[in-house]
Amino acid sequence: MGDPLRGLIPLRFLLPAGFALLFLLFPLLSLAANAAIKAARLWPAQDYTRITLEADTPIRHNVMTLHDPERLVIDLQEMEGGPELLDLPGKVGAEDPYVEAVRIGRPEPGVLRVVLDLKGKIIPQVFALKPVADYGHRLVVDVYPASPVDPLMALYLGKENGVAANAPDAAPGSNNGARVPDPAAGVPRKPGTAAKRDPEDLARPVIIAVDAGHGGEDPGARGRRGTREKDVTLAIARKLRSKIEADDGMKAVMIRDGDYFIPLNVRVEKARRAQVDLFVSIHADAWIKPHVRGSSVFALSERGATSAMARWIARKENDADLIGGVNFDVDDPYLKKTLLDLSQTATINDSLKIGRDVLAHLGNINDLHKDEVEQAGFAVLKAPDIPSILVETAFISNPQEEKRLRSSAYQDKMAEAIYQGIKRYFSKNPPIARSKLAQTEN
Ligand SMILES: [Zn+2]
Repeated sequence: MGDPLRGLIPLRFLLPAGFALLFLLFPLLSLAANAAIKAARLWPAQDYTRITLEADTPIRHNVMTLHDPERLVIDLQEMEGGPELLDLPGKVGAEDPYVEAVRIGRPEPGVLRVVLDLKGKIIPQVFALKPVADYGHRLVVDVYPASPVDPLMALYLGKENGVAANAPDAAPGSNNGARVPDPAAGVPRKPGTAAKRDPEDLARPVIIAVDAGHGGEDPGARGRRGTREKDVTLAIARKLRSKIEADDGMKAVMIRDGDYFIPLNVRVEKARRAQVDLFVSIHADAWIKPHVRGSSVFALSERGATSAMARWIARKENDADLIGGVNFDVDDPYLKKTLLDLSQTATINDSLKIGRDVLAHLGNINDLHKDEVEQAGFAVLKAPDIPSILVETAFISNPQEEKRLRSSAYQDKMAEAIYQGIKRYFSKNPPIARSKLAQTEN
């Protein structure tokens, strides 16, 4: 099976015979016989590598793990390959932390086999997603390391694997033998940040979680010239990180630093685990009418949206999990509880104050869509204890704003405005006050 094409070519000839046999034995199955994989995607990330196969019908499959060497075998029933699937082996990069290679073959008629050669022991998460947005039926194969780099991912997988659930952070070197991605290559991991901070430490920096909206399967909104929200948000997030890191009084924690998907609740949990002082989610959304323009800042609402557009945008942003693909079968009471915790009025008040400072600075470089911070039920703003804002930098659906969002200079201005707004808020409200408050409340 060295050549991924080998075994596939003769199969085109074998296939009719296979189908004829199946037709005799199971007439109903032949209805799906002509389905083909129409798209195959691969997204390596620090926490996992995701492979997505897409077709017009549900993809029937069997998955097995083989050891020595480690492999994951995905058998697709009654599926045709397609050019996209044949290209999948070429999409595996040397830097992929978990997947060494992909091979495709036909072990028997009616079975299309995808073999992942792995770099170490893994835990697969395989699930199907129904059609949503531009996507058809998808089969998602997430390859997680057996010893997760991130303890949150261990929780998300429902496995602890020797990593204590409340350990501040897994030591990157503790995964004996397993290939571990370079921690510096992904989300910047600051060994000190997760540890309990001393509330008396007045000199501690303000820690900001920078969340680039969307990613991977979830492109977010699209502009008329094809600009994808997920690319714009990552570009602005990286510029914001640089500004924060250049400031002695601040530190940045990137929630995502590449083109991959992170579920909304995992974004929130990553921020909580890093004990950040503020969570900033960056977006550039679309509206049906192209003339609509301007920057907006949102905070969470416990009651209802402050405007029809706020509600509409919140619903669109919350759809990210449906589009990007979350395995809703994962039953984790810990994460669920977090999302259901509504005792966050104080946090929302702080969020509104920070939002106003950021909005004021955005008003210096762009029109404001609204003069006040809007509120709606955004899932990504639901950390009960961390002030959180969502910045809609501009409307990617507005041709002029799309053009500006593509420009590195304008992205830099956006990042600068957000940074200045954050800085202004924390110069008036140093985080130490919040720590003391939290302590006296206990
Ligand atoms: Zn968005």
